[in-house]
Amino acid sequence: MRRLAVYCGSATPRDPLYLEAARTVGRTLAERGIGIVYGGGKLGLMGAIADSALAAGGEVIGVIPQALVDAEVAHRGLSELHVVAGMHERKRLFTDLADGFVTIPGGTGTMDELWEALSWAQLGYHADPVGLLNTAGYYDHLIAFWAQMGQVGFLRPQHRDLLIVADTLDGLLERMAAHQPTQPIVRMTAADL
Ligand code: AMP
Repeated sequence: MRRLAVYCGSATPRDPLYLEAARTVGRTLAERGIGIVYGGGKLGLMGAIADSALAAGGEVIGVIPQALVDAEVAHRGLSELHVVAGMHERKRLFTDLADGFVTIPGGTGTMDELWEALSWAQLGYHADPVGLLNTAGYYDHLIAFWAQMGQVGFLRPQHRDLLIVADTLDGLLERMAAHQPTQPIVRMTAADL
């Protein structure tokens, strides 16, 4: 994995552990020579990831819609900043530029990005690993819900391993590197579905 899309919150939670976790992710990826593609923002965990990776000499590429540049939330010190028309183009570029996805704590926008990465993997639009960093148990309920989708039958057995989870970044990167692409929906027949 040479470059990862990192999805995270644009907010700054009260508990400083979240900003600190984002800084550790940015610094660690830079130290390992792994580039970052992210939403190009300067606020919250997004800004923290970018600043810490840049300070450690890493490559940080931002992809941001024009409307957010107009709102003055773009980070101006990145290795590259792609300004795009809207969210569809932005997420297409995340997928094209990265060879894996890491989600750390965040809100609605982060969830949109995580679930699109999972849904596109399931369909077969990409075969890259999708990792979830469960910092301080923040995603415990989401992980339980993923299991429930499998138990009830809305998530097919072939796709249960698409969500790769770990409590630490080192553990997550190790699991993501070992990821084996599964049978995507585009290569199934109606009888499999
Ligand atoms: P949220 O988790 O709702 O804070 O949304 C964060 C995700 O949505 C990021 O990964 C970005 O791609 C996008 N996003 C939301 N707010 C911003 C912002 N102010 N600047 C740049 N991107 C943002």
